Amino acid sequence: MKNIIFFIWFFISPLIAGAQPDREIMRCVSEVSQDSISSYIATLTGFHTRHNLSSLTDPDKGIGAASRWLYQKVAGWIPLSGGRLSVENIQYTTGGSGTRLDRKAELTNVMAVLKGTGSQEILLLAHYDSRVDDNSDSTSFAPGANDNGSGVACLLESIRIMAGIPLQATVRFLFLSGEEHGLLGAACMADMARSQGWNVTAVINFDMIGNTLAGETGHRDNTTTRVFSAEGPSRELARYIAETATTYVDNMNVALIYRNDRYGRGGDHTPFLNAGYTAVRICEFHENYDRTHQLVREENNTLFGDLPSGVDNEYVRKNTGIGIAAVMSLAKAPAAPVNVQMNTRVLSNYTELEWEPSSGPGLVKGYYVVIRETDQSRWQKKIYTEETRIRIPYSKDNYFFGICAVGHEGHQSLVSVAD
Ligand SMILES: [Zn+2]
Repeated sequence: MKNIIFFIWFFISPLIAGAQPDREIMRCVSEVSQDSISSYIATLTGFHTRHNLSSLTDPDKGIGAASRWLYQKVAGWIPLSGGRLSVENIQYTTGGSGTRLDRKAELTNVMAVLKGTGSQEILLLAHYDSRVDDNSDSTSFAPGANDNGSGVACLLESIRIMAGIPLQATVRFLFLSGEEHGLLGAACMADMARSQGWNVTAVINFDMIGNTLAGETGHRDNTTTRVFSAEGPSRELARYIAETATTYVDNMNVALIYRNDRYGRGGDHTPFLNAGYTAVRICEFHENYDRTHQLVREENNTLFGDLPSGVDNEYVRKNTGIGIAAVMSLAKAPAAPVNVQMNTRVLSNYTELEWEPSSGPGLVKGYYVVIRETDQSRWQKKIYTEETRIRIPYSKDNYFFGICAVGHEGHQSLVSVAD
């Protein structure tokens, strides 16, 4: 069959997000409010500590009070959603011997589900537990404003804004406990995703997205955020987030970090990655170790502790916009094509690619072949086709190739890389 190439361009316009921004996504990104973010963080720090062994029953203090507040906060937005938003507590027993928790504990993950019309699911993660440097200290003030009040605020604000928007994909917002004692809540949810067969397209973890100052060096950056990704499909999710950020969020650049997480430290996306899911972490560009996991105190005119004064709410606002732009773009797009094959048997300066059609045929308008030079980080060129095989005048030896599906309104799936 003759391949039909509709157009090729060396683009200046954003690649993955499409040339025409989606007005609904633009509006949602513009609705993210610094005031909302700052009020969520103030409430979270008001629980004194959200340590995993802190009180479950005290009405005002401890991780139990925090989880009940999260549940109630989400429940308050259910009327906005036309019945699509729901919230539930997922309780699990963990701790004791063989874990980093001193004793057994019953912990709670709070899961908000915004039901879509299709079968794809997108997971957004933020841990809501907190700690000080002594990880067995369950009573000292551990405000956790940035780690991870900032990520929790991002998810809450995303629910508030997206609750009224019908989407194709289901979005699950997971407020996770147990992170500071070994990613326990995330492991519980990754098991649940597997055992219940969730059809997960992407997992995005927001953990520490509000600090802009590098502690020792004094460098400050409120216009760059990091997306950590392991090689493979997760790297394509990171590239997707970078492209949608370019389209929808002003004064914010995405640094693609080609590693799963920071040295010596972990995050809640990792149990999902290890379970075979496409998972990345969004995290501030600079960290301030005087403000992370420290007992709140003043020493030699230096303030220690994870207080709201260390959070730049404008930076959290922009990071939240990045999440909303990526999630809504993905949630409006068809599924990614699968089994993308490149013919490496023939010696030719043309490249032949073939793939299986994306699921949900009603949603797919066509496909982009995306191309980049082998030393480039971002996809550089794209070619549109409505077929599922193509022959293009680019040598397979000089480029990487991938395929993404495009819907009738121009929303694009994640890229499946050819091999
Ligand atoms: Zn954290």
